[in-house]
Amino acid sequence: MPPDWLNSPSALPDMFPDDRRADVIIVGYGLAGACLTEMLLRKGLRIAVIDNEKAQTTKVGAGIINPWIFRHLTLSWRVRELLPFARDFYAATELRTSSKFVYPLKIMRIFGQDESERWDRVETNGDVHRSKMIDAQKNFPYIKAVFGCGVIEQSFRVDTASLLNSLYGLHLGQVHFIREVFQADKLLIKESEVVYDHIYADSIVFCEGHRAIDNPYFNFIPFRPVKGELMTILMSGMQEEYIVNRDVFLLPLGNGLFRLGSTYLWDDLTEEPTEAAARQLIAGLEKITDLPYSVLSQEAGIRPAVADRRPVAGCHPEFNRLWILNGLGARGALIAPWLSHYLANQMTYNNDPDPEVDPLRFYRNIS
Ligand SMILES: Cc1cc2nc3c(=O)[nH]c(=O)nc-3n(C[C@H](O)[C@H](O)[C@H](O)COP(=O)(O)OP(=O)(O)OC[C@H]3O[C@@H](n4cnc5c(N)ncnc54)[C@H](O)[C@@H]3O)c2cc1C
Repeated sequence: MPPDWLNSPSALPDMFPDDRRADVIIVGYGLAGACLTEMLLRKGLRIAVIDNEKAQTTKVGAGIINPWIFRHLTLSWRVRELLPFARDFYAATELRTSSKFVYPLKIMRIFGQDESERWDRVETNGDVHRSKMIDAQKNFPYIKAVFGCGVIEQSFRVDTASLLNSLYGLHLGQVHFIREVFQADKLLIKESEVVYDHIYADSIVFCEGHRAIDNPYFNFIPFRPVKGELMTILMSGMQEEYIVNRDVFLLPLGNGLFRLGSTYLWDDLTEEPTEAAARQLIAGLEKITDLPYSVLSQEAGIRPAVADRRPVAGCHPEFNRLWILNGLGARGALIAPWLSHYLANQMTYNNDPDPEVDPLRFYRNIS
């Protein structure tokens, strides 16, 4: 049976007959909010979205899907389930929106000292494959790879800014978009419904990205937002078949354009680019190649992460009309489709929550 989000668009509800009544209010329309909107529309629900139209993290993010974590040489969290789900969701969304935002790209991992032996020791799983690159030095003499290279083949890039645009185009006639900053003190939680300003709904879901740190209802979750910076550079002579990864990554965009990223900083949560990050990125690039380049731009965003490095999706432990979808961290493109599908199911069927993503794991004051 096809997944329910692949159902024909004719199952969609008409635009609000009364635009003050929704089934669900979604706060935040970045990657998380847009995917959840899609999953809930597929269930025939009426959606109102409140967003101040920033989505800076989703617009800045590189959108690389890598099944492996190179630092530990382990598989990414639940990748066997998440990867095929993400692939199908993006392919179906590309088809439905007649747009392109998925780019298959292998990853070339430049080994550090001893990494080649560690790479051999970790078992290669047939379905999430790793291999070694033979003749890296011969084929790409301008890439500094004295200890050799590994290859990941099941990786791809999702242009998350374009994905967001495509989903927005799809949702525009079906969703009541309210373009403003959500203010928690305007929310009324009643037994039978929630009321925000003049919108009445059965429930509200917060998909606020790193801004969730200001959410008074979910402040028991230990959010650990992480600033990240990237550059767009122009470089001729560099291959464009692989994302090159060492201390930084070099992601080919086509026509000699590359994204160079990214940094991790926990103690500066401004969304402004910095000189320190520029120096770090350039130092990382110069470890990869001496090819000449010019910097075209630099951007910053804040990854929405949680202390235990797991996403968070579920119902508030005390208010059963309040929900959250957050903590996509540095792997939003991989996690968002599966997690929003999971949450849409939780909201419509009364399934047992998955303890690994349930906000309850942080809630210690239950009587
Ligand atoms: C430098 C960098 C590189 C990255 N690279 C990758 C990568 O290679 N692969 C990958 O998978 N992921 C990557 N990511 C992470 C990925 O981009 C994020 O996980 C994802 O975009 C988070 O989406 P989100 O919807 O949770 O948050 P956001 O995109 O921040 O969206 C949240 C939305 O909620 C709105 N909002 C919040 N509060 C309110 C309010 N009170 N009222 C109204 N609106 C509100 C915001 O304005 C915004 O529009 C990267 C991130 C960065 C910064």
